[in-house]
Amino acid sequence: MSPLRGGVAEVSDALLERLRAECAVHTAPDALATASRDWWPLAMVWDDDGTAITPAAAVAAPTSPEQVAAVARCCHEARVPLTVAAGRSGVCGASMPVHGGVLLDLTGLDGIVAVDDESLVLDVRAGTFGTPLEEALRAEHGVTLGHWPQSIDLSTVGGWLACRSAGQLSTRYGKIEDMVLGLDVVLADGRTVHTGGAPRAAVGPDLTQLFVGSEGILGIITGARLRVHPAPSAEVRAAFRFATFAAGLDACRRVLRRGATPAVLRLYDGIEADRHFGTGADGGEGDAILLVLDEGDAALVDAVLRVVHEECAGATAADPALLDAWLEKRNDVSALHHYIEQGAVVDTLELAATWSALPAVYDGVLAALRVFDDLLVASAHLSHAYTDGACLYFTFGGFPPKDQREDFYRRTWDAALEATVTHGAALSHHHGIGLNRARYARAALGTGLDVLAATKAALDPHGILNPGKLGLRSPWGDPAWP
Ligand SMILES: Cc1cc2nc3c(=O)[nH]c(=O)nc-3n(C[C@H](O)[C@H](O)[C@H](O)COP(=O)(O)OP(=O)(O)OC[C@H]3O[C@@H](n4cnc5c(N)ncnc54)[C@H](O)[C@@H]3O)c2cc1C
Repeated sequence: MSPLRGGVAEVSDALLERLRAECAVHTAPDALATASRDWWPLAMVWDDDGTAITPAAAVAAPTSPEQVAAVARCCHEARVPLTVAAGRSGVCGASMPVHGGVLLDLTGLDGIVAVDDESLVLDVRAGTFGTPLEEALRAEHGVTLGHWPQSIDLSTVGGWLACRSAGQLSTRYGKIEDMVLGLDVVLADGRTVHTGGAPRAAVGPDLTQLFVGSEGILGIITGARLRVHPAPSAEVRAAFRFATFAAGLDACRRVLRRGATPAVLRLYDGIEADRHFGTGADGGEGDAILLVLDEGDAALVDAVLRVVHEECAGATAADPALLDAWLEKRNDVSALHHYIEQGAVVDTLELAATWSALPAVYDGVLAALRVFDDLLVASAHLSHAYTDGACLYFTFGGFPPKDQREDFYRRTWDAALEATVTHGAALSHHHGIGLNRARYARAALGTGLDVLAATKAALDPHGILNPGKLGLRSPWGDPAWP
């Protein structure tokens, strides 16, 4: 039996026939099973245990916005769930069709539409994967988007926008929500909305940002206008050791406070530094390690590095080869599957908090996790920084008895999220909510969740778009998990 609660929608032959008239539709069981899961570690555990998960009844694979609109119209009229899935690299179960229905595979909607080099604006289709996009921007246009999520090979422009993604160079280039200036969105009933387009506007609330982070529940993003930058002509690097993580945090804060925005400002606590770089002393925890890299115009990056050196004057210089090691391995994503096959439960939690709250958030989340007997590791690094605060990225995992893996997963996440909310941090910085964090959406948003529900009801009156997610009620029964 599927561990996901909630009903499964009927998909009639008549609907399938209508969809087939619009675009390619797949119904082979293997294709449905594969398309119905993402990189949520708990779903991987279920997979490893041989636990079946509700699959979609059909995968629709449009190649144009018009086909997307036609599929949406069909599902809206038939009142059948329509869940967008693109790269399926999400780590919260957000693209899993928990009530069955139709899965909308957007990866056929790809490619650059245009680059306006004078204005530095890219027009791109939503299903475009990160690596070919960045390669084409550099080779054909001499520009960069500057968006480098670790999952760049696995994820798409639309997925980034739907989850408010962050790349490894975000302290210079921003998160995806800072890069977007306009969207094309298909609504649940098949109507199309074009938002934004100008550098700034004062024409009511920002409708572009309404859809950014909406995880497929408010509309289907088919295209985007994104800010790009001249490909960098200079690069600088530095690395430092701090006696404590807190001292490193404070140095990062001072760097940002002076207006310097090095593309990479990555501070590992002693445990993570030792795990990645073998920097621990005598098998002990060792120092916190800060990696700094900036790129762009030579005059600007030199100034940024000068500020970094001044603010890190109290730290010890570390071997810049640590950056080479990080750059070489930064997109290696093979470990997760391996650990789960070994019987482990492993996951990551990224949150954001103000500088004044960060030290307590760091201590609080780690303390909440370290009460579990089967926990093997809990550690963190700072991965994205702002003038007002930063993102902390925790890694935790353990080896509970095999038949208790789901319970361990649930209890460790509950403990970490309770601590997150208690300390006033954002529930997620860039992975989103999906299924995994849905039960904390009310705690995070308060009456804001009612505003989101009302918006959803206005834009998607039959509730067909990605039901069962983001903590909202689903017409097919809720909540989906747990
Ligand atoms: C190994 C690994 C490393 C990762 N590293 C990072 C990282 O560094 N930074 C980061 O931000 N994330 C990271 N992620 C998470 C993931 O890659 C991001 O959440 C990414 O934005 C998801 O994109 P996707 O195309 O795979 O979307 P999917 O997983 O297919 O979908 C995710 C959600 O977005 C919705 N969606 C997708 N496309 C659209 C669309 N066009 N319109 C409307 N809704 C849509 C889906 O319905 C779903 O709710 C990582 C994941 C893995 C597995």
